[in-house]
Amino acid sequence: MGNQWQIARKQLDSVSAILSLPENVHQLLRNFDRILTVSVPIQMDDGAVKVFTGFRVQHNSARGPYKGGVRYHPELTLDDLKALAMEMTWKCSLVGVPFGGAKGGIICNPKELSKSELERLTRRYTYAIMPIIGIEKDIPAPDVNTNEQIMAWMMDTYSMNSGFCTPGIVTGKPINIGGSLGRTDATGLGIAFTIMNSVKHFKIDRKELKVVIQGYGNVGSAVGKFLSEMGCKIVAVSSSKGGIFNPKGMNHGALTRHYKDNGSFEHFPNAENITNEALLELPCDVLIPAALGNQITNENAGRIKAKIIVEGANGPTTPEADQILTERKIPVVPDILANAGGVIVSYFEWIQDVQCYFWCEKEVNSKLSNILDRAYEEALHLSREKKLSLRTAAIMLAVKKVADAILVRGLYP
Ligand code: NAD
Repeated sequence: MGNQWQIARKQLDSVSAILSLPENVHQLLRNFDRILTVSVPIQMDDGAVKVFTGFRVQHNSARGPYKGGVRYHPELTLDDLKALAMEMTWKCSLVGVPFGGAKGGIICNPKELSKSELERLTRRYTYAIMPIIGIEKDIPAPDVNTNEQIMAWMMDTYSMNSGFCTPGIVTGKPINIGGSLGRTDATGLGIAFTIMNSVKHFKIDRKELKVVIQGYGNVGSAVGKFLSEMGCKIVAVSSSKGGIFNPKGMNHGALTRHYKDNGSFEHFPNAENITNEALLELPCDVLIPAALGNQITNENAGRIKAKIIVEGANGPTTPEADQILTERKIPVVPDILANAGGVIVSYFEWIQDVQCYFWCEKEVNSKLSNILDRAYEEALHLSREKKLSLRTAAIMLAVKKVADAILVRGLYP
């Protein structure tokens, strides 16, 4: 992820030029409202005190409070968080969610921490960033290596320090403390909706659509579940340990059971083992990278045989690969559009918490589908009108809305 920040800034520069944004606004968007670095000292189980480093990056709040996940990772860098915070600003803007972009995290390896150390780390980090977060200021959420338990500890720490219960301070919480129905699978369901929109527009036969999913984790397996229900054929899936392929299709339930029992997809009945590299190059209708960034590069883009790529992960396609795929007329549905389901339902969770009034899952999913359909139509329309890639069109729409908000609000003081 090292160069993601430079890529994000370059994308903004080129879109700003196409939009002829005033240079003052462009410069404002290239920078940040606030970056907070905090020391997070905790007592380890053996009695020693260890000091971790945490961050919260707030990119822009012209359209509403900051929103973005909290990532725990040993190789986390401030540049990663800057790129991800900027991307959150665009994602919220594109889908019309009234939030700005933020991202945070701690440099740590959660797999090396006990549960009580993880709890103390989370609580001390929450306390450290408390001055800049709040229901109307900045609302964190889960990201890589954080989950609903960590959100529950964050919510509790914030509430204890505030003196009253504040469920709306984070999203992605357990249902019994203000979480939303549908939140867990929202990213995957949103990707499935987007795939259906894409195959319609790119005139790919929907019947028995053959899909390849790289990374069958939270996002990938939820996509697999919904696509199976929609009648698609999952012909290949993978985890970090490698992948499997069966051109006749594989059952989602059997895949998840096999992975749960064995910790890998190896020896799945009637499937051939393949590497993650080979998986990306399989012939299929839809390729869904749902693992890490930088997976489709100038190295392999020339060999991709999918009819369309729908980005489940954040930043799986490098700009060089994007160019090769455009030349090869393989459409790429960009991350900020395809995986926005998570932040949309996070927004629904926040609304429900603020109103203390909760919706049924059907209502959540139908509202999600409406928002994604509209965002898809808008991006597609602009890309066709201006002959741009869907990614450029999506970022243009997003940046324009943020720039308009900055301009109409004016510069304080
Ligand atoms: P996860 O950890 O649950 O799943 C990731 C999966 O990818 C796992 O199956 C893992 O084994 C696999 N994987 C790791 N390295 C791999 C490699 N080199 N090749 C193939 N597979 C590999 O994470 P997740 O929450 O599903 O997130 C996946 C991606 O989606 C990330 O890029 C994340 O930023 C993005 N995303 C997640 C959400 C969300 O709601 N969880 C929302 C938007 C975007």
